[in-house]
Amino acid sequence: MANMKVYFETFGCQMNKLDSEAAAERLLADGFSLADGPDDADVILFNTCSVREHAEERVYSRIGSLKWAKRRRPELLIGVMGCMAQKDGELILRRSPLVDIVCAPRQEAHLAALIAQARNGRRVLALDDLGRRIERRTAPRGVVEVAPCDDGAFERQGAARPSPFQAFVAIMLGCDNFCSYCIVPFVRGPEQSRPAGEIAGEVQRLAASGVCEITLLGQNVNSYAGGLPGLLRRIHDIPGIERIRFVTSHPKDVSDELLAAMAELPKVCEHLHAPAQSGSSSVLERMNRRYTRDQYLGMVERAREIVPGIEIASDFIVGFPGETEEDFQQTVDLVRRAEFNQSYIFKYSPRSGTRAAAMPDDVPDAVKKRRNSELLAVQSEVSARRNRAMHGRALDVLIEGPSKSDAGRLSGRSRGNDIVVARCASAEDASELTGRIVPVKITNSTALTLFGEIEESRPRP
Ligand code: SAM
Ligand code: SF4
Repeated sequence: MANMKVYFETFGCQMNKLDSEAAAERLLADGFSLADGPDDADVILFNTCSVREHAEERVYSRIGSLKWAKRRRPELLIGVMGCMAQKDGELILRRSPLVDIVCAPRQEAHLAALIAQARNGRRVLALDDLGRRIERRTAPRGVVEVAPCDDGAFERQGAARPSPFQAFVAIMLGCDNFCSYCIVPFVRGPEQSRPAGEIAGEVQRLAASGVCEITLLGQNVNSYAGGLPGLLRRIHDIPGIERIRFVTSHPKDVSDELLAAMAELPKVCEHLHAPAQSGSSSVLERMNRRYTRDQYLGMVERAREIVPGIEIASDFIVGFPGETEEDFQQTVDLVRRAEFNQSYIFKYSPRSGTRAAAMPDDVPDAVKKRRNSELLAVQSEVSARRNRAMHGRALDVLIEGPSKSDAGRLSGRSRGNDIVVARCASAEDASELTGRIVPVKITNSTALTLFGEIEESRPRP
């Protein structure tokens, strides 16, 4: 649509960032252009996350903050895409009169048509079959419901590129695990694997356009239908690709075969994100995680044995229904034993429709907060100790650009996914080194960052 400018505001995980990029590309092809910011936009699209209530509240508060902009410019259109759109559908239109468009994941092909209808004063709702099954309510009067489409977009889905040399590529959609707290299987549907040939073709195109680091994305990449080790081997053979990562791994599916492939293939980084969620077997059972505390610690031990130098990251939920102080102390103990390089810690948030939502949310918020900060402090202690052990070592770092806190230094990531900040000689050096893998000798550290000196730069391959 000629001359209409669209602005995307994306919440949540990498998958959402990828979906926003795919939607933006589609709208560009349909004649739209991208706005530099919300003030400059004719259409603002919020791509949303529904994993925790807090994420949803942030979206409603951002929409609310556009009240004056919409009064000043009644032609401004506001849309909600993604997981919240799928989960709450027409409820969003009821709750927020400012919203004109609600569009579920995988229905982005409709966006241009939805915007055209909204421009003609209609409020529009596009859910897929999954969303329609969740929804049992009727849309507010005057809302136009658009029939779902499956145009094979997933097979063609492109990549999200945080920089010219890095790309995230979706290899799977959805999830079949049904962890009892999690909304993802309800809003993203059953697991579907993208054909290996499509993925390899995509990675080849990315490599040809200058990408050297690929991160394969999925809710549980270890259950990739064709086998993740085989896919890693196939991508490993693609010239130009220097680093391969994959997220997220379900601990129950981290096989010896996968670990052996990580050890064998030099381009596959020694980095495993395998969320433990809790260190208590009884909580894990109620979470339907299908492993015990000992099995998790056994997986960590095998990983460290088979893949020397591996860095393991985790997620935790504190305050899950029925979590006692003893359960929580088992989680604290697991963090100390497993020696994660990083943990993401969340307070349990009940999600209606999930199995855990039927359990009493009986850990008071003050206790959830206290456990959250206690676990963060323990992880910080572990990270600081691990980082100190790196002093004196040279790590290969992919330089991503100037450091955010000090433009005179460069920031990048080690193979283990640690943030490394390194001094550079000059501004010319900085732009020359961005996008390259250079050895950095670690001289100092905090819990979050390693600091060092660039040893020497290798010639660009
Ligand atoms: N598929 C990944 C996995 O299984 O680890 C991650 C999925 S989820 C989008 C990311 C993280 O959000 C989870 O690992 C979990 O720690 C957290 N999470 C999911 N549901 C939650 C809930 N209801 N309350 C709090 N945290 C939650
Ligand atoms: Fe949610 Fe569990 Fe699936 Fe991860 S594996 S997306 S936590 S249901």
